[in-house]
Amino acid sequence: MLKYNKNKVGWLLMNKGELHVVHDSDIEDLLKSIGCLEKYKEGRLKCMYCNDTITFENFQCIIPSGKEILFCCSKYECYKKTLEMAGTG
Ligand SMILES: [Zn+2]
Repeated sequence: MLKYNKNKVGWLLMNKGELHVVHDSDIEDLLKSIGCLEKYKEGRLKCMYCNDTITFENFQCIIPSGKEILFCCSKYECYKKTLEMAGTG
């Protein structure tokens, strides 16, 4: 069972309803592989819940959803929604 952790160890990738930790050192490769690295560097990635810009500091989750890739920031409210989605997914 994953718990919310203020001192996050890495970013999370949701895959088929399961959360996987992605370490900071791997995140650029991951973003590149899903075609989002440029958007991330340009500050064009938004949280799917609160619409905040995703940055290195507030990044929490990547959620592939069909053809779309969604992102979630590290606010407790947003992260909680993602965990709820994982639990029911
Ligand atoms: Zn958010």
